[in-house]
Amino acid sequence: MTSSEATNSKNEKPVGPNFIHQIIDKDLKEGKNNSQVVTRFPPEPNGYLHIGHTKSICLNFSTAEKYNGVCHLRFDDTNPDAEDMEYVEAIQEDIKWLGFDWKDKLFYASDYFENIYKMAVQLIECGKAYVCNLSPEEMKFYRGTLTEPGKNSPNRDLPVSENLRIFEEMRKGVHPEGSYVLRAKIDMTSPNMNLRDPAIYRIRKTHHQRTGDQWCIYPLYDFTHCLSDSFEGITHSLCTLEFEDHRPLYDWVLDTLNTPCHPQQIEFAKFQLDFTVLSKRNLLRMVKENIVNGWDDPRMPTIRGLRRRGVLPESIRNLYNQVGVTKKESVIELATLEGIIRDDLNECSKRAMAVLDPIKVTITNFPEGKIETLSASVHPMKEDWGKREIPFSREIYIDSDDFMMDPPNKYFRLGPGKKVRLRNAYVIQCDEVITHPDGTVKELLCSYDPDTAHGKTPEGQKKVKGIIHWVNRSTALEAEVRLYDRLFTVNQPSADKSKDFTEYLNPLSLNIIKKAYLEPSLKEALESDRFQFERVGYFCLDKDSKTDQLVFNRTITLKDTWSKIK
Ligand code: ATP
Ligand code: MG
Repeated sequence: MTSSEATNSKNEKPVGPNFIHQIIDKDLKEGKNNSQVVTRFPPEPNGYLHIGHTKSICLNFSTAEKYNGVCHLRFDDTNPDAEDMEYVEAIQEDIKWLGFDWKDKLFYASDYFENIYKMAVQLIECGKAYVCNLSPEEMKFYRGTLTEPGKNSPNRDLPVSENLRIFEEMRKGVHPEGSYVLRAKIDMTSPNMNLRDPAIYRIRKTHHQRTGDQWCIYPLYDFTHCLSDSFEGITHSLCTLEFEDHRPLYDWVLDTLNTPCHPQQIEFAKFQLDFTVLSKRNLLRMVKENIVNGWDDPRMPTIRGLRRRGVLPESIRNLYNQVGVTKKESVIELATLEGIIRDDLNECSKRAMAVLDPIKVTITNFPEGKIETLSASVHPMKEDWGKREIPFSREIYIDSDDFMMDPPNKYFRLGPGKKVRLRNAYVIQCDEVITHPDGTVKELLCSYDPDTAHGKTPEGQKKVKGIIHWVNRSTALEAEVRLYDRLFTVNQPSADKSKDFTEYLNPLSLNIIKKAYLEPSLKEALESDRFQFERVGYFCLDKDSKTDQLVFNRTITLKDTWSKIK
């Protein structure tokens, strides 16, 4: 665990058995892999990690942990066009924040380029790979379709010596990009398209963030991944369902070549969340097109975004534990994640009061100039967290939502002539409403009942139904408060391929309140703190916050308001 946030695992539920663990149990029983379990998480450093990736991270790391094995972090960095060191660093930070540790097992596919090259040469030497100069259009034509077999490339029977010579020339940069690829020689008539002589190397004259200009040919995913797994002694290579059709190729490469070991590829269903877009390509678009303010925008489903929003790492692990691992595709309701986030925050959030949309209230029978110090629990269930001091005086703020000029019968907040309890303080009664010329409320004149002090009122005496939050005016801290809502208005924003997902953006996903009033105890807030602003939601300090300009994010409301709207 690297951050204080990651240590609060009190709420964490144990991981239940899943079909992958059943396979591993059987392997261990049979003494397979010398009874070792080695997994890996293999991100491509072409973007920031999102909540989908957390399933793979939790599965790989917790599986290794369960069986006293190790989980490697391996960057699958074979496509220099889209990759960047910025992503390499961010991915590591995000995994640590989630609470996982790869110890000294940090690897890069690019470290294997020389070995992978040697493997390609080995394949050519045994007549199982050939260089091919078909154009992309020709390649497509020869490939066939799902219903028609492909045809052999005219290059398929080039002599081994010729293949070796040209492949070496490709490496030396003699041939331009796109002029040649190296293909595995498998079966152009296979019903599995992945086995129709797939390309395994291509020419790309692009600077690589780690190997610089050392290489101008790069191995493709299907060739790189199985070899990297084998070089590292991975026992169980866990990946998402779309790789199921690639498994025969994974196995073909490892069966055909002389490799250190043959890991077992096992596929599982991806995490999908409703109201959310997850592909890195689309997330990158949202960043580039300024739809959001960067990868760590609190509305983003990235680990960064969730973290900045105030979500705890254990909530993400709890989501994984709750949803489990299966082979069946399903969409998780965002409400499930939100419920977990609320439960976890309820446990660890300090209580405070904040008024986001103020109305001034003057307590006419409270002496001018006097400040009374009241006190309230920092957390109602945790006596040992102590008390906080709450100043109370003649002028306070309440939220405009808590007052109605002409309230209906069952309105238990404030209205002309009505009584309400101020949370942690006294009962007040609204005696007079002062309005602006346009009729909106300017100020309320109220009187308080000194015999109703919080905690001191005898049971059942002077009871009022409503309790509202408030903040003392003279000691209030001013802060910017950012409220977030779902980024999309439909539950499957990228399902309709004829529409662009940006058509479903929620225009109200960000609401910035420039001047909210907070109780003074929040002056001491730390970035690692979590707060429940009573009746308003869960909040945390934003990284933009400064001593003289506090900025708070609302992580989540107290209740699921969307379920009512839907
Ligand atoms: P995206 O499709 O969002 O762009 P990706 O699959 O291209 O993501 P990688 O960096 O290749 O991203 O993924 C690293 C690992 O995370 C892979 O093993 C991949 O299968 C897994 N992964 C990606 N998305 C999900 C998801 N939604 N649920 C579970 N695992 C995922
Ligand atoms: Mg990918």
